[in-house]
Amino acid sequence: MANLVVVGAGYGGVMAGKRFERSLVPFTIINKHSYHQFITWLHEAAGGRRPVDEYKVELTDVFRKHTTTIVNDEVKSIDLKNKHVVGRNRPYPYDFVIIGVGSAPEFFGIPGLEKYSLQVRSLETARHIRTRIDEQVRAYRNDHDARRLRFVIGGAGLTGIEFVGELVEWLPKLCSSLNIDPSGLEIINIEAAPTILPALSTSLQEEALRVLKESGARMMTNTKIVKVEENAVHLESGEVIEAMTIVWTGGVRAHPLLAESGFTCDRRGRAQVNEYLQSADDDHVFIVGDCAAFVQAGRPLPPTAQVATQMGDLAARNVMAQLNNQPLVSFSPKLRGTLASLGHRVGVGTIGNMQTRGTVAGFAKEMTKVKYLYELGGMRMVSREGAHLSREPLYQ
Ligand code: NAD
Repeated sequence: MANLVVVGAGYGGVMAGKRFERSLVPFTIINKHSYHQFITWLHEAAGGRRPVDEYKVELTDVFRKHTTTIVNDEVKSIDLKNKHVVGRNRPYPYDFVIIGVGSAPEFFGIPGLEKYSLQVRSLETARHIRTRIDEQVRAYRNDHDARRLRFVIGGAGLTGIEFVGELVEWLPKLCSSLNIDPSGLEIINIEAAPTILPALSTSLQEEALRVLKESGARMMTNTKIVKVEENAVHLESGEVIEAMTIVWTGGVRAHPLLAESGFTCDRRGRAQVNEYLQSADDDHVFIVGDCAAFVQAGRPLPPTAQVATQMGDLAARNVMAQLNNQPLVSFSPKLRGTLASLGHRVGVGTIGNMQTRGTVAGFAKEMTKVKYLYELGGMRMVSREGAHLSREPLYQ
């Protein structure tokens, strides 16, 4: 029997695994943690909406068939020559491997950025951000240092804007609960480009700007961060903003494992794949999600969960086809739109070709959670996880 291995239990990896499970094909999934994290909702966890541990599900709950083997190990590289996945604990031989190891923050070589900023990238970093914010607000009660109530978010892509949307809701409540005057709060979003949310239309960008400004955020566009020090952000203009909490949401690049293992990668570290999602370097290796450079109309597809899930499913189907000497299927992504939440009630975005805003967009965004949970584990998963994730904010 062929040895099938999936590396990484992100959106691409779990959907590959679900496809194998449904076909009762034995496979091994290797992941650093025992759980799958809902990375696209982590701005909520970091921004205080619900307890951080609600943004994960154990892999034993996702994969329940006896044909699946779950391994907790950190994969260090892929040995293409010997067909081994090299884990921290041991090597794992494969006949076919699907790699979905996701992305890492892109720091663009900006001095001090990696060292002095926090990022919304994992359950642990979300927990770290949330704790830091809480500590700063509490410490403000003792020393009244204005830098503790100043929160800088660098980058106004989807992650940055959704995180700002959480902060403008949570922070005034946190201050009030600690008898601190919320008027001292400063939530500052800094974006190098002329506009926020480059993926959306001008009218939706303006709507998001309006909502966030009216909620108290200071939105700075055309403003580039050029250096970061402990508790200080330097702008291209020479201005320095002092803040105890600096969160970087300025973009991502692929996980370094691909380039380090010798795959042919683009400038963002994504490994080249063909139309079937096979690596350009080895047709027994499939690459999915943020770490795959799938070029469509001359540009790589953006690193989104909807692309990753579709890639994971197709990669598993193509592995099974290749094993059975059947024709492989080309990847043809179905892009269903882009939604950005602006806090827990409203949002902006597109559903198909239709533009949406306000509570309708907010509701549609919540519905994407239900849809994903259903794909992950049917009604069992929707009723268990969806019940708390779609409830009112807890702000503990
Ligand atoms: P991004 O690349 O989309 O946005 C980063 C922003 O940071 C850009 O607008 C960029 O101009 C800005 N920036 C870069 N350098 C800067 C500097 N020195 N100073 C100030 N601003 C700077 O990154 P992201 O928001 O982390 O998203 C990454 C990917 O994940 C994207 O493809 C995005 O579409 C996807 N994503 C999707 C969703 C969703 O579908 N709801 C949510 C989050 C992320």
